[in-house]
Amino acid sequence: MIGSIVYLDHNATTPMHREVREAMEPYLGGARGNASSMHALGREALRAIDRAREQVARLINAEPDEIIFVSGGTESDNMALQGAARARQDHGKHLLVSALEHPAVRRTAQALQADGWDADTLEAGPDGRVDPVAAVARVRPFTSVVSVMYANNETGVIQPVSAISARLPEPRPYLHCDAVQAAGKIPIDVAQLGVDLLSLSAHKMHGPQGIGALYLRTGTDIEPLLHGGSQENGLRPGTCNTAAIVGFGKAAELARRSLSEDAAYVAALRDDLEAAIVTLVPDATVIGRGAERLPNTSNIAFPGHDNHELAAALDQHGIAVATGSACASGSSTPSHVHAAMGLSAAMSRSALRFSLGPDTSEESIARTLNALRSILG
Ligand code: PLP
Repeated sequence: MIGSIVYLDHNATTPMHREVREAMEPYLGGARGNASSMHALGREALRAIDRAREQVARLINAEPDEIIFVSGGTESDNMALQGAARARQDHGKHLLVSALEHPAVRRTAQALQADGWDADTLEAGPDGRVDPVAAVARVRPFTSVVSVMYANNETGVIQPVSAISARLPEPRPYLHCDAVQAAGKIPIDVAQLGVDLLSLSAHKMHGPQGIGALYLRTGTDIEPLLHGGSQENGLRPGTCNTAAIVGFGKAAELARRSLSEDAAYVAALRDDLEAAIVTLVPDATVIGRGAERLPNTSNIAFPGHDNHELAAALDQHGIAVATGSACASGSSTPSHVHAAMGLSAAMSRSALRFSLGPDTSEESIARTLNALRSILG
């Protein structure tokens, strides 16, 4: 709940954790120094950033010097794809990007195509997953980057990233993974995933908005998108946002601590919600149900209904849900994720996304079901 609102849109953004806000507070006044300054205040800011780098690294089993702080998931995805593609162009100008990716990856691949790269799409099956064998069969000797997300933002379906990594042929392309939705919801281990680049965003895991990270495995080459000072090893110049970075670090530490307990709690509530909706609306379809999914996400089609009308009606009842991903909601174009799964446009336009969080209560679920009962008659 946020005030009196039942908030079921955690995949769009999450409420900031109280301890995150408290950790950031001392750094919100500018007098805390620039982390690049030599004096005591600057050194203290740098120490705080280094601590956060360790906290974020620990969440994904990386080394602290493999973490580059950036402005969020979108920048991290851009930096991974553009940076790696440009650094490896002598190797080849071919990219493979899954059909399920967030626009931060898809549109970056399109921009690279406009600049002379060849980008192919890895199709998904009706279960919302990319098939690892079929994906790897598309790799060519001159493929420089493959990008497959960890968990989809609309359906929550988890992708077989480690299976793809294990099968990648030599010469091995770089493997990028957008883990923005997975972080804080399921464990992430970059070594076990076998990825070279991985993207994170703090506001999806109870941290502040406008801060994220790119994991860059030691030895991975990228070209910076920005040019300037030597911050973040010269790969992401610009004065560091100390308060946001400290908040991200705290959010990572809290997520690591409570991840398995939170996952079990939200999965049980999510399953109850789905069971009750399917009882209430017998032809309702849980999209991606057959596959392994994030514990908090439920994407449900209500055949014969318009998802914008349903979401607006729920909003009137004080229930916040999404019609698709946050960046595509408001558009009447059917979701590219649903299209990739072979769902009809009509089915896609009837789908709502409910994304729960550890702050979601049983009462919130009961209120949501009551609202749906009164809306659907
Ligand atoms: N990647 C995925 C899978 C997302 O869901 C989002 C946000 O919705 C992003 C990237 C972009 O992250 P940010 O909002 O931090 O730019």
